[in-house]
Amino acid sequence: MFEKILIANRGEIAVRILRACKDLGIQTVSVYSTADKNAMHVKMADESVCIGPPQSKESYLNIPSIIAACEVSGAEAVHPGYGFLSENASFVEKLRAHNIHFIGPKADHIKTMGDKILAKKTAEKFGLPVIPGSNGEVKDYEDAKSIAKSIGYPIIIKASAGGGGRGMVVVYNEKELEDSIKKAKTEADKSFDNDTVYIEKYLKNPKHIEIQIIGDNSGNMIHLGERDCSMQRRNQKLLEETPSKIIDQKTRDYIGNLTVEALKKIKYSGAGTVEYLYENNEFYFMEMNTRLQVEHPVTEEITKFDLVKEQIKVAYNSKLSKDQNEINFNGHSIECRVNAEDPVSFMPSPGKIINFHAPGGPGVRVDSGCYSGITIPPYYDSMIAKLIIYGEDRNTCIARLERALGEFVVEGIKTTIPFYQEILKEEKFLNGDYDIHWVENYMENKK
Ligand code: ADP
Repeated sequence: MFEKILIANRGEIAVRILRACKDLGIQTVSVYSTADKNAMHVKMADESVCIGPPQSKESYLNIPSIIAACEVSGAEAVHPGYGFLSENASFVEKLRAHNIHFIGPKADHIKTMGDKILAKKTAEKFGLPVIPGSNGEVKDYEDAKSIAKSIGYPIIIKASAGGGGRGMVVVYNEKELEDSIKKAKTEADKSFDNDTVYIEKYLKNPKHIEIQIIGDNSGNMIHLGERDCSMQRRNQKLLEETPSKIIDQKTRDYIGNLTVEALKKIKYSGAGTVEYLYENNEFYFMEMNTRLQVEHPVTEEITKFDLVKEQIKVAYNSKLSKDQNEINFNGHSIECRVNAEDPVSFMPSPGKIINFHAPGGPGVRVDSGCYSGITIPPYYDSMIAKLIIYGEDRNTCIARLERALGEFVVEGIKTTIPFYQEILKEEKFLNGDYDIHWVENYMENKK
């Protein structure tokens, strides 16, 4: 096994990875920006290296600094977490040139899946159902007009290099099309330095259902079922659960196996998630994330399968520790992303946490890098904790979630905890009867 791993991330995910390393008896190296010198991931690691000033570009995205930190500390492998450099193929190649392992897939797979147009083409080629739309890039208005006509409005224009719920424009009729194409291209260029866009049919009431997979370097691969991530605001996930109320075992087997068969054809290794929209009993491939996802713990809770440990093992060339028929799904799990934001306006609320008390007791897991006295810097993502609940069934899980939210104390900054307490009372949530547009409609109706 690796003796020393460097964790190229911060916050709760750095802490999560540190815990997996410690469970495996691996030495750990944390990296941090000057804004994070008192962060939990720095305190927990065996060694830590400062990699630059607060701005991500100069620290957590600074490849030369991170490679230097590996060399100084003697780390043999890097776990990138999610975000930052986790889907950066050139980072993987540079690590390899320095004889450092990347805990994740091969650079080529990151490149293929990181380009959404190429990813969609690859998915289609290997047998996955895709959303009707343009067959690749849409160059201009005329091009867009004929595609929109053939698939019908509404349509969604997406940036091929997009991510994080950004770079998408919904168009309801031809009158809006010309301006929307221009807007989408300008935004894509500004945000992702690449103005390539494509078009898809905009689905009206889909659920976001994603499939977790993991493969090793010997050609073995398993799926760990689905996560329902339909609770979203501005295309960003808020709450995730598994199993999904609308997926039965037969459907799970079908889409899980289909996903695995497709990815085996490209010899994918490492953990990954294939995201689908699901409407009228049909799945439509949306994209693949070639990394660990924020919401991975709900899968861990109902399968008792440690995804982070397994990522480390397969990166070390070990074979997967379980076969598909050894994966069992028991009970229900829900995760709430607790953000340092106003619970009504969702405006960021960084600052000093005066008092932090995490809930506990049966079925309650909190993944966080927070403690009383820590200052949440304004430079990074606003998620400060994940509250992950397990229950024997969905109702038990929801009752526990309500209890845990009530026990959760975060003083000094605003958080989204009250938002979840409110959602929990809604019948649509209680019935599991919500789609990707539900939160926005709910907030609109509240005004
Ligand atoms: P990102 O990589 O930015 O997360 P995705 O392609 O995963 O982008 O899409 C994010 C979210 O946007 C989806 O979960 C869904 O809510 C919405 N979305 C994307 N494509 C469509 C579509 N064709 N129809 C309806 N909603 C969509």
